[in-house]
Amino acid sequence: MNNIRFIQIPEVCPICGKPVSVVKEKDSEVLMCMNAQCKGKLLGELCAFVGKKAHDINGLSEATLSLMIQRGLVESPIDLYHLKEKKEQLAYLPKMGAKKISNLLKAIDDSRNTTLEKFIVGLNIPLIGSRAAKDIAKHERIRTKETNLLEPINTFIVDAAENYDFTHIEGLGVERNNSIHNYFKENYDYVCALASQFTFQDNTVESIAANTSLEGKKFCITGKLKKFANRDALVADIESKGGKVVSGVTKATDYLITNDKESGSSKNKKAAELNIPIISEDEYCQL
Ligand SMILES: [Zn+2]
Repeated sequence: MNNIRFIQIPEVCPICGKPVSVVKEKDSEVLMCMNAQCKGKLLGELCAFVGKKAHDINGLSEATLSLMIQRGLVESPIDLYHLKEKKEQLAYLPKMGAKKISNLLKAIDDSRNTTLEKFIVGLNIPLIGSRAAKDIAKHERIRTKETNLLEPINTFIVDAAENYDFTHIEGLGVERNNSIHNYFKENYDYVCALASQFTFQDNTVESIAANTSLEGKKFCITGKLKKFANRDALVADIESKGGKVVSGVTKATDYLITNDKESGSSKNKKAAELNIPIISEDEYCQL
């Protein structure tokens, strides 16, 4: 008789007592504790959290993190953001001088500026690596525009908690979709608390990246402006949409922007000569 058949698969993690899940990884099945704050995998979680593809925090080697766990300074990744209140205890760690502590706390503070992609990598959801995180973040940025939620992070949390079908994203199959939902069943409160530690840059990045309506177009500007506060503001607007500003009118110029089309300036004459459209600020705004 084969004894292996009778091994009972545990339903809860022997360390934290939270439910475990079978995660299919390529051809094998792995039993995993789904609790992001489980002490049994805390060191691994922390290493991934501070890693380059996640929050990229300098000064936290595996050895340092291991010591911090032993001394009870961190019990979950979120505790890194409360180390500021534990400066005295930090100083008791070997090789932790005042300078090193202040550098470390600064690096941790700097990491508060993040993106949804990094945040997802940092959650360490089984099967969700940096590639999947990137695809999910992009998808959620687009979805945020369609819904009325404030930021992509909100869309992601709601989607992950409410059984949104992530298989809509190319490359994300049923296994990854299930993994996200199983993870959120156990860690919803943790994810929300963690998210509150960060400022997400996704909105600004997306708005610049999304608007390329003037890609490759060259503009020359002349005369007084009315709509834009000043020339720099107009230049910034053109550049933010992928356009370029040139100082003189040549064959390669696509538009001359001026509010006084009859001024008879040399630029106006040149543009007329070369058949280059002369447009007002209002007309520019409608491009
Ligand atoms: Zn556990």
